[in-house]
Amino acid sequence: MALVSMVELLDKAQKGKYAVGAFNCNNMEIVQAIVAAAEAEKAPVIIQASQGAIKYAGIEYITTLTKLAAEKASVPIALHLDHGTSFAQVMQCARHGFSSVMIDGSKHPLEDNIALTNKVIEAVRHLGISVEAELGKIGGTEDDITVSEREALFTDPEEAEYFVQKTQVDALAIAIGTAHGQYKGTPKLDFDRLTQIRERVSTPLVLHGSSGVPEDALREAISRGVCKVNIDTNIREAFVFAARQALEGNPTEIDPRKMLGPAREAATKIIQEKIRIFGSVGKA
Ligand SMILES: [Zn+2]
Repeated sequence: MALVSMVELLDKAQKGKYAVGAFNCNNMEIVQAIVAAAEAEKAPVIIQASQGAIKYAGIEYITTLTKLAAEKASVPIALHLDHGTSFAQVMQCARHGFSSVMIDGSKHPLEDNIALTNKVIEAVRHLGISVEAELGKIGGTEDDITVSEREALFTDPEEAEYFVQKTQVDALAIAIGTAHGQYKGTPKLDFDRLTQIRERVSTPLVLHGSSGVPEDALREAISRGVCKVNIDTNIREAFVFAARQALEGNPTEIDPRKMLGPAREAATKIIQEKIRIFGSVGKA
């Protein structure tokens, strides 16, 4: 089937109290792994590409691979821009057929974030493209800040209500204690804050930086209203580890398929595990 809008996937997830996995891709093997995992679990899925992925693979390759994968698949697939930071980036993705975009205005003051989000919504909603925004700051695990400094960047529930009233955005990424990258310790999520946000807004909520968040914490977050969970780092780890293992002890191996094949299989496996945790098995 053709790519679908993210809105319909998240609305169904919200009603069914599960989350749709949003998995980052960089290359053909990872696109194939995401689709193979979704097919095996009969789950709806979001394939997302960051600006870094688009720069690496080229936007035509990302969209062509993903559209082809969607056409051949029996499960619904959305193609989403992860962390778009400018209006121009978002419009480039819209022109190339993305069915969903994130405009991350979280580094701007609240009113500027609202204005940027609304500019994007006005430009793409009539094309059937869904829009995710971010409120609060989801940093990186490498950011050299203390826990209390990070907490100061968490999403404020009242601000979330105001933001959603002013934008009517399709999905909202919130900062409740997760971070991008590999965690050094175990992340602690602020579940009370999540519940307070959920009580004030009915918009589908998005958890970024979810690789390395323990399984029970993911389930808890989903039970409290998260319905899109982003996974990138776990795929990178599985992919590179398997590729490295395939080459170990084989210094004369020159066939890239001997490296990329096992890497693709490892990525498929970890994505299937996540889909099961998210509760989206059989929801396609
Ligand atoms: Zn993110």
